[in-house]
Amino acid sequence: MPLHFFNTYSRELEEFKPRADRKIDLYTCGPTVYSRAHIGNFRAYIFEDLLQRHLEARGFKVHRVMNITDVDDKTIRGAREAKVALSKFTQQFKDAFFKDAETLRIRPADDYPAATDQKYIDKMIAMISALGSKGLAYQADDKSVYYRINKFPNYGKLAHFNLDELKTTGRVKHDEYDKEHIGDFALWKAWDEDDGGVKWDSPWGPGRPGWHIECSAMATALLGDQIDIHCGGVDNIFPHHEAEIAQSEGVTGKKFVNMWLHCAHLLVDGQKMAKSLGNFYTVPDVLAKGYTGREIRYALMRVHYRTQLNFTWDGMKEARESLGRIDDWLERLRGIAENAQRRTEDSEFEKALDDDLNISAALGFLFETIRETNRAMDENKLDAKTAALWLAWWDRINQTLDFESGDVELPAEVKKVAEARAQARLAKDFRKSDELRDKLNALGWEARDTKDGQKITRRAGA
Ligand code: AMP
Ligand code: ZN
Repeated sequence: MPLHFFNTYSRELEEFKPRADRKIDLYTCGPTVYSRAHIGNFRAYIFEDLLQRHLEARGFKVHRVMNITDVDDKTIRGAREAKVALSKFTQQFKDAFFKDAETLRIRPADDYPAATDQKYIDKMIAMISALGSKGLAYQADDKSVYYRINKFPNYGKLAHFNLDELKTTGRVKHDEYDKEHIGDFALWKAWDEDDGGVKWDSPWGPGRPGWHIECSAMATALLGDQIDIHCGGVDNIFPHHEAEIAQSEGVTGKKFVNMWLHCAHLLVDGQKMAKSLGNFYTVPDVLAKGYTGREIRYALMRVHYRTQLNFTWDGMKEARESLGRIDDWLERLRGIAENAQRRTEDSEFEKALDDDLNISAALGFLFETIRETNRAMDENKLDAKTAALWLAWWDRINQTLDFESGDVELPAEVKKVAEARAQARLAKDFRKSDELRDKLNALGWEARDTKDGQKITRRAGA
């Protein structure tokens, strides 16, 4: 079955046809590094990870680029308030982003271009100049350069509205009266005192790029004028992606993106999880509650990417239970399976993902399989060969899910108690060892003493 995705541009489910035979260019808007990304942001990145892994499972070679927005109003303001250089201010959040992405098992992109890299600044300036010479950009009295949206007939096609409905957006900094049309957006923002030392030379005077041109320049610099798939969260559709189309197509005259995929928001109590609302959790916040990276991964992945997902602690508990069921199932299968087998034919799992990444149906099939094979094992009716086939199938789909426990990831506090208990046992201080066992229990973990030493597992139902 061919792959199908919902293209925001057409608002239709379309058959996916890559431009080159088995190669796919994928551009995904990355973090703005003015604070630590929250798990809402990571819902978007996990959806993109699922997309990339499924494309690879289907035999495509994916070239993925994720930009890092390390200059914009918020990063400049943050650096000014912290009284440090912009690059020093943003570095801590870049580091945190990569650490959290690894915790959530998000496969690294091939390139992480940063907007402040001089070679991309040069590309942004070249693109703005090209837009100017085509009459698509103008310098206003405030010295900033704006995109003339009236001159780009397709403006509004992605977001599906017309120009008259346009209102100002949060990312426009300068006074509106300088612009010809209220919807014209900044390509180059003229330097002002608030920007401190943050500025680059340009044909229009010192200043810095607008957020939208950063992505157009980095996408086309690394992937070429045309790309297969561009992703982001739904809040990126307007103005950001609309602007990217106007800029890139304005310069090249070619269709910029074949398919636009956007992920719905992660909510908390029915509202978008957002920095500005203060209702967010970071990855370390959730880890601090005793959850692991793969549990967060599961919780953020389990619902279809175009459906809003409400974050709750009950949802985290369910993630833990679901993964526990997978772990137990694998242990049982491994107990009876004989020699490794290869199972190559498609299952309902892969077919569900072909259909616009229908993860709920894919997981539904997985858990139905677990139920059925467990029943067969209860009745001693699953033979060794069939068990091995299911394990081979699991190994294959786990390339996409990346849900397997591997070494148990112990939360820091649990690890400390477990180590203290191991010491107590070595010292034959059994009273202390029992106390520490109770402490582990209270934290939701269990210590079993085996001939290979103590094994720490999650307490059933915890
Ligand atoms: P930002 O750092 O604000 O540029 O956002 C980075 C990415 O996270 C973008 O693709 C956003 O659309 C996405 N995003 C932001 N908030 C949420 C949320 N609550 N749920 C899902 N994605 C989000
Ligand atoms: Zn972008």
